[in-house]
Amino acid sequence: MSTRAGQHVATVLAREQVSPHLVRLHLGGSGLAGFSSTGVPDEWVALVVPGQFQSRYYTVRAWDGAALVLDVVVHDEGLVTEWVARDCVGEEVVVTDARGSFDPPPGAGWLMLVGDLTALPAMARVCESTDLPTRVWAEVPDDAGLLHGYLPEEVDVTWSASPEDGSSRLGEVVEGLTWPEGPGYFWMAGESAQMRAIRKHLMRGRRLGSHEYDVMGYWRANARRQPRSVDPGPIWRAGKAAGKTDEQIWADYDAAQQRQQQDEANDG
Ligand SMILES: Cc1cc2nc3c(=O)[nH]c(=O)nc-3n(C[C@H](O)[C@H](O)[C@H](O)COP(=O)(O)OP(=O)(O)OC[C@H]3O[C@@H](n4cnc5c(N)ncnc54)[C@H](O)[C@@H]3O)c2cc1C
Repeated sequence: MSTRAGQHVATVLAREQVSPHLVRLHLGGSGLAGFSSTGVPDEWVALVVPGQFQSRYYTVRAWDGAALVLDVVVHDEGLVTEWVARDCVGEEVVVTDARGSFDPPPGAGWLMLVGDLTALPAMARVCESTDLPTRVWAEVPDDAGLLHGYLPEEVDVTWSASPEDGSSRLGEVVEGLTWPEGPGYFWMAGESAQMRAIRKHLMRGRRLGSHEYDVMGYWRANARRQPRSVDPGPIWRAGKAAGKTDEQIWADYDAAQQRQQQDEANDG
């Protein structure tokens, strides 16, 4: 498998069913030797599964210098969903180096973390890495009893069940929060349109400064209308015919994808 700088081929060493909708993958192999973790607790990698060119993002649940653990939520359908739902042990995937975003301001005295099941790996890592008083609100599709050991015992967690219709009540949760006194940090991740509304609420309603919160759109409910991926085949063939290196061809591919996303953003 050919990869670019900052990308690593890894082998699925083990697959565990954590709960009905959550699968843990242990990745390893010599390809991870150069893997670079940031240590930022919500750090993520882009993952490409066999037979696909499109990537999906996953939080680094754990990295011990040799093995990488990702916790993957299984949805009704999806590229990674369909791959991880079956026995994928022994298969090769590609992961990028990690990037992180969690960045509480100096002097923060508390943390509030809100998210759905896709946010749970990042919230767990934050909880495991901080001494600050932390409250968590997690909305999950599985029996919360199965996930109780997922977050450190001492953390104050409010579990709620995801509505059956695929919507989320996390917006109401945020509007109803009692905010602690003094400076702190609010972190949240979930469905992208909902996260935009939450950001607005924090900026205009709560008048938080941008350094006081981090709200990330982790997935899109209307993914069938997600930006089309650019077919890499013609770019690959043209690049090879022109004598370009793999590196140059991937750079062309990145540029083509960026152009397409820009065009789609301009279209509306
Ligand atoms: C920084 C970052 C970190 C992330 N960390 C994790 C993580 O640790 N674990 C994890 O599981 N996910 C994580 N995600 C979210 C994950 O990348 C998306 O949910 C992704 O779309 C799943 O890919 P897929 O191939 O299974 O489904 P896709 O092919 O992307 O989508 C297929 C269908 O599933 C629907 N869908 C996608 N995600 C969800 C969802 N969460 N709930 C309900 N329907 C959904 C889409 O609307 C679409 O209809 C993270 C995202 C980001 C940006």
